[in-house]
Amino acid sequence: MADNYLDLVNTSLPGRIAKALGLPRPSVLRRYTPGEALAEMPVLVTGSGAGADALADQLLGWDIEVRRHVLPGEKLSAAIVVLDRAAAPADLAAPMLELGQAVKLLVPGGRVVGIFRSPAETADPAEAAARQGVDGALRSVAHELRGGATANGIILRGAATTTDPTTLGALRFFLSGRSAYVDGQFLDVAVAPAESVAEFAAATTAEGEGVPDRPLAGRTAVVTGAARGIGAKIAEVLARDGARVVAVDVPAAGEQLAQVANRAGGTALQVDITEPEAAARILEHVGQRYGVLDIVVHNAGITRDKLLANMDAARWDSVIAVNIASQLRMNEQILASPVFSATGRIISLASTSGIAGNRGQSNYAASKAGVIGMVRAQGAAFDGSARTINAVAPGFIETDMTAKIPPLRRQVARRLSSLQQGGLPVDVAETIAFLASDAAAGINGQVVRVCGQNLVGA
Ligand code: NAD
Repeated sequence: MADNYLDLVNTSLPGRIAKALGLPRPSVLRRYTPGEALAEMPVLVTGSGAGADALADQLLGWDIEVRRHVLPGEKLSAAIVVLDRAAAPADLAAPMLELGQAVKLLVPGGRVVGIFRSPAETADPAEAAARQGVDGALRSVAHELRGGATANGIILRGAATTTDPTTLGALRFFLSGRSAYVDGQFLDVAVAPAESVAEFAAATTAEGEGVPDRPLAGRTAVVTGAARGIGAKIAEVLARDGARVVAVDVPAAGEQLAQVANRAGGTALQVDITEPEAAARILEHVGQRYGVLDIVVHNAGITRDKLLANMDAARWDSVIAVNIASQLRMNEQILASPVFSATGRIISLASTSGIAGNRGQSNYAASKAGVIGMVRAQGAAFDGSARTINAVAPGFIETDMTAKIPPLRRQVARRLSSLQQGGLPVDVAETIAFLASDAAAGINGQVVRVCGQNLVGA
């Protein structure tokens, strides 16, 4: 469903009228195209200390023009504020105020990225206050930015540094058009096991080379619910990034599924994921054709909305069966199989409804909050191995699912995010492709919202 209002306010006269009336003026977002430069204009790295210095050096190695202070009037592609040494709230003032000068100079689609240490990993109240303070300040900056610009954070865990491969991977994700609809979000980054980052590190240290445009080359990925909507886009983006894709959906969607698989240059497999033997059939298909399964994207999902007072068992049970019970059963079988790679990735679709709740969606929210619980527990079980599991929680995404919302409510829902628009399936797909790549090797057990910093609920 096209967002006609967004198209309209991005033309001259209607745009001026919307401004005069104080109406929302969503910008056309900067989305990723392979081969794009990470930053066309200089990037500010503010903050002092070895971590900030090392990061600035790294960016120079990526052929980015780096500034350590704002130059009056000079436009910036991004501003990175490094606060890894913040020990008390007073330490935030100078870098945050400099950031305040920088945001005025950001180009449309500009980026703010904060890098700081985890508030959960210090016992010192002043240090915890400083670290948590960065979180609050960055979320507020995200609310304030306009012109399709976003603000996000990277939280260093344990011994992670500003230049660890996963820190740099997360930074590249936030700087690039891949994260167009990710706003006001924080990625916890830990030191990743050596075997899963070797390829990425080699690619990024080669002078000026950056990561390859096909970061998933040679990987085999299964995407459930791939016949349409977000799942079809995930299949397409994973294939663009080099993966061999197995597209899975119910037999009734067979024709559409075959088209998606063809476009992705992969194979189609008609399986209802609620069947007890679903995982066995997928593992057999992948094992025979490709030998190894690297990436599993649990995307298939349904809604059967009703107020709880009017809910019947059929609606409740079907949503739980598709959205969470099948994932739990499949993961058990996939993890027990020798076909699943030792550096395997699992990415599950949650929803902002599973974080904030949503009227008429108690069954759906139970299933999607269930996904988040599952990912946390399984992520903890993966600690110390090279496997990861993460969830992606979309907000309002323009698909058949949201086209069913009555027109007025749909218009309101679109504007209720910091980016004042719905996301596109490709925005969810790009985040999943990032989490599936070596660049995200140190990101595990987390939930990444792709919601444009939705203002409702959490
Ligand atoms: P969609 O309804 O357009 O597509 C879902 C696909 O899953 C369909 O092709 C369907 O046939 C398939 N599917 C359903 N049950 C299945 C089963 N038992 N076995 C195999 N395949 C099955 O939905 P979408 O909007 O593309 O959403 C994709 C995922 O993203 C879902 O998990 C959804 O809950 C989640 N999500 C979507 C939004 C949004 O705004 N669209 C927001 C938050 C979360």
